[in-house]
Amino acid sequence: MKSKRIVIIGAGPAGLMAADVLSGHGVHVDVFEAKASVGRKFLMAGKGGLNITHSEPLSDFIARYDQSDWLKPMLEEFDAQKIVLWMESLGVSSFIGTSGRIFPTEMKAAPLLRHWLSDLKKRGVRVHCKHYWEGFTNEGSLRFATAEGEKVIVSDATILALGGASWPSLGSDGAWVRILAQKGIAINPLLPSNCGFKAQWSPHMDSHLGKPLKNVLGWVKSDSGEMQKSSSEAILTTYGIEGGLVYALSRPLREEIIAHGEATLYLDLLPYVTISKLTALLAPSGKQSINNIWRKAGLDSVKTALIRELLPKDKWSDPYCVAAIVKKYPIKLIGMQPMEEAISTAGGVKREALTEDLMICNLSNVYCAGEMLDWDAPTGGYLLTAAFASGRFAANGILKNLLNDDIHPCHNDS
Ligand SMILES: Cc1cc2nc3c(=O)[nH]c(=O)nc-3n(C[C@H](O)[C@H](O)[C@H](O)COP(=O)(O)OP(=O)(O)OC[C@H]3O[C@@H](n4cnc5c(N)ncnc54)[C@H](O)[C@@H]3O)c2cc1C
Repeated sequence: MKSKRIVIIGAGPAGLMAADVLSGHGVHVDVFEAKASVGRKFLMAGKGGLNITHSEPLSDFIARYDQSDWLKPMLEEFDAQKIVLWMESLGVSSFIGTSGRIFPTEMKAAPLLRHWLSDLKKRGVRVHCKHYWEGFTNEGSLRFATAEGEKVIVSDATILALGGASWPSLGSDGAWVRILAQKGIAINPLLPSNCGFKAQWSPHMDSHLGKPLKNVLGWVKSDSGEMQKSSSEAILTTYGIEGGLVYALSRPLREEIIAHGEATLYLDLLPYVTISKLTALLAPSGKQSINNIWRKAGLDSVKTALIRELLPKDKWSDPYCVAAIVKKYPIKLIGMQPMEEAISTAGGVKREALTEDLMICNLSNVYCAGEMLDWDAPTGGYLLTAAFASGRFAANGILKNLLNDDIHPCHNDS
């Protein structure tokens, strides 16, 4: 095994984690990366605070993924607790923040990445930057574009950890889709996920754009009547709406928009007040202005502006009409923000194209890991956890298969 040459393409969280596992078993690993430095999206993820994983019970954690059955064995092998221990092994402490999310104490990705790379280097992992993978030769070797021209690399096993296609300037451009599709590998189209959505605001909303909508509950009704809910913050923007609340609902919203050209996001602007209590709070009282009554009922300036945006003026003093709109405020969404601006991408290499060990069924000894696999999840640490866990899983697949020279049954064959 130690004489085998393993190549990993893509030095993001999935690829580096695969290198971690393999080098931990004394295997020679070469990591090839398109950009001039590694982990650029990982570093970007750390800019606003690196939410690396989540502390909720594992069964709830796994249920956050659209492909929870598929990811379950991977996440069980590398769950939030293991991520925390792994960070500690690199000298990086962590803490549990509000709503159970886990962050490195320093919040940033850079110190963790620095310690990680130094550890990998000590174990002999060789990282080759500025090597852009362009596909396979007829013999199945790997073709790279480099400043010195094309290089052909032979490997005993390869892990593709090429990411999705959001923020392509950070390296993941999704060009692998064409290469693998030409080989007949089943791929679901890449689509923006955890992204903002387009809505049209009247000029009256201008002074409220860029401001947060706090303590609201959002939900989407799908064609099947199923309802998905999210309670977090949203931000009204010039193009529409963004923030944790819509990111968490991005899958059902995206599906509605693809099917019908638009989707309705419903908001409860005051989820902690019942409609009957709210109606009583909104009742006209003496000489109080409408603004004053609404403010005392808990409606801040952004929520007030939203009500005025939708409700005709002659209804503003009707507590029943105002309460009804506050408890079920519809926002028509007419599109998604482009993939380049999304936090992640849905779609990717389908489960049935891979063995249980994440090897591509019709490409012997080529494995896939990370965001390039066909799974989707909200923000909250779920994206990085699945990238790490699938990277480990693919590496363990190589260890098992190259050692045992196993037969690799495909999902749809079993
Ligand atoms: C702004 C932002 C904030 C985020 N915040 C969080 C967060 O707080 N928590 C969370 O869980 N997730 C977050 N994410 C998502 C998370 O960063 C990704 O899901 C994760 O990085 C995916 O890991 P990966 O290894 O699969 O892919 P990537 O990190 O995209 O790595 C893939 C690597 O492959 C390289 N590559 C691509 N094509 C080629 C090629 N042809 N040849 C050679 N190399 C190639 C790329 O350059 C890249 O280095 C955030 C993402 C963004 C954009």
